[in-house]
Amino acid sequence: MAKRGEVSNQYIDYNVDFRNIQYPRLEFKTGNLFLVLPKNFQDDKTVIKKHEKWIYQKNSQIIDALRKSKGKKLDMTRSKEELNELIKSLIDLYSEELNVNINKVYIKQMKTKWGSCSSKKNLTINSLLKYLPKDIIKYVIFHEMAHIFERKHNDRFWNHINQKFKDYKSKERELFVYWFLVQKIISSSHH
Ligand SMILES: [Zn+2]
Repeated sequence: MAKRGEVSNQYIDYNVDFRNIQYPRLEFKTGNLFLVLPKNFQDDKTVIKKHEKWIYQKNSQIIDALRKSKGKKLDMTRSKEELNELIKSLIDLYSEELNVNINKVYIKQMKTKWGSCSSKKNLTINSLLKYLPKDIIKYVIFHEMAHIFERKHNDRFWNHINQKFKDYKSKERELFVYWFLVQKIISSSHH
């Protein structure tokens, strides 16, 4: 359900979904505010008000990323096959470096993330990475494989990442910016 609210004198559009949960939950996964509410919960305006500061900060980050995305270009030359080969060679390389074995690799278009790693050591990689620079693709593959050692994004995880990618913070920021650029491709290909 699409709605509109007000945060620090700015309008914000959000979607509401009702689920079998006890407490309201707010998410900003893909650049859009999403409210997950317990069934029969009516007062979403109060939830918005309560988390006004957090929503405002997240929204500002998104506006900033959108602005930065205008100065970036996507790589339109890499084919699907080239991406697949690149991903497989990187997985081979990092498997040796990290001394791990990946079970299965799935490369498909994902709507909410660049990649994921299951507890069964299966990697799922977003095929939209084909539009991104090689150094960013390297980072995503390494990041997902590092989740074999640590599921959560905690200090232990980032310490691990930092051993190979000292600039991981800027890589994460770039990925956030690229997310918005890639969304434009998806939306234009559907119209
Ligand atoms: Zn992660």
